[in-house]
Amino acid sequence: MITLKEALTLSKEELQAFKDDLKAKIEAESELNAYIDINSIGDGVPIAIKDNIQVKGWSVTSGSSILQGYVAPYNATVITKLNDAGLSAFGRVNMDEFAMGSTTESSFYGKTLNPLNHEYVPGGSSGGSAAAVGAGLAIAALGSDTGGSIRQPAAFCGIVGMKPTYGRVSRYGLSAYASSLDQIGPMTQNVEDAAILYDIISGSCEKDSTNIQRDDKVTPTLNADRKFTIAVLPTYLEDASQDVKDAYSKAIDALKVQGHTIVTREMLDAKLDISAYYITATAEATTNLARYDGIRYGNRVDGKNLEETFIKTRSEGFGDEVKRRIMLGNFVLSSGYYEAYYVKAQKARHIIKNAYAKIFDEVDLILSPITPSVAPKFGELSKPMDMYLSDIYSISVNLAGLPALSLPIMKNGDGMPVALQLIAPAYDEQTLFDGALSLEREIQYNA
Ligand code: GLN
Repeated sequence: MITLKEALTLSKEELQAFKDDLKAKIEAESELNAYIDINSIGDGVPIAIKDNIQVKGWSVTSGSSILQGYVAPYNATVITKLNDAGLSAFGRVNMDEFAMGSTTESSFYGKTLNPLNHEYVPGGSSGGSAAAVGAGLAIAALGSDTGGSIRQPAAFCGIVGMKPTYGRVSRYGLSAYASSLDQIGPMTQNVEDAAILYDIISGSCEKDSTNIQRDDKVTPTLNADRKFTIAVLPTYLEDASQDVKDAYSKAIDALKVQGHTIVTREMLDAKLDISAYYITATAEATTNLARYDGIRYGNRVDGKNLEETFIKTRSEGFGDEVKRRIMLGNFVLSSGYYEAYYVKAQKARHIIKNAYAKIFDEVDLILSPITPSVAPKFGELSKPMDMYLSDIYSISVNLAGLPALSLPIMKNGDGMPVALQLIAPAYDEQTLFDGALSLEREIQYNA
């Protein structure tokens, strides 16, 4: 597959021919179920779009039955920014319902397969985005990351996935899961493409009050030769598989060869992140999902009166995982439990943020696992608690609002990709991309 950088140099005619080919390829590999449908808007470089980002005139459903029939009446800011830069939304890709999940199995449209081996999950919730890029069925894709949903599927499919600093990319037009954690980001074949796509979609937006209204770009000064101090977290790897430990050693060696200084630091017990995250995310999700009542959007199941219409619509429209989260979210927000759970989680979040800040007082980047193991096989993560625990390495980054990038390091004995993430201080995407570029150069995963 051509890279985004290469695609940006194609003429309109060449692009049209490329898109015709791509359509045929996607249809030939429909078994993967990466794409929900292929609609092309405009004549720019085609980018696959996760089903929770508004594209005017498209059916946009967050992988849910409750949004069947809804047509987006406007473009998300990221789509407007793509169009302005000569790129176009091309194809809607699969995801876990309302971005809740780690395998893309909870989608209304059925599961997406891992392109490297169909017995394995592609990860989630942006599993369609990762599978499309990993299979050579997209030049690049947009995903969203609330607790790892860009970085984890990227890791499982052997591609690059990047979550920007909270507030860097406008959330206007992103269907909200947990508003204080959600960020849209690039999923690409390599680090440079991720930087290019990040530059295109980031920047000021007056329609999102949490946007930081800054337009600084990373690509003009991308530099793989900068030397950094990088913290490694040996005790943090206790819950990681041997594959991940091997990739960690390999990456540390590669970073040393590239001239970086490696120092050892300790992070808080990552198990605490799970509680803080699942309380915060479900509380916000409960509030955000209240709008799906059968009156304003999508599907409606009529009842005798308004209340019954709400109940029937929501009972039939939401899947089990979404309902589980709505119940959990209502529980932690209910009087009597609010202080015990929700407020406590916010305090924990503050402690996590400070722990990162303390490390970043002395280092430029942190090297961390992104997942405890390679992609599991279908069915292996079917218990909700096991699935939540598998987010152990990704969610603290969202709680702290930091930028992070997941990069494939090696393949294990079964040929499945093993990835790690680099984490940078807030708003220092430049250092994140420069460091990732240097690691990618030494690792040569795609060579
Ligand atoms: N797996 C996590 C969850 O289910 C993260 C999802 C995401 O980042 N959207 O909440």
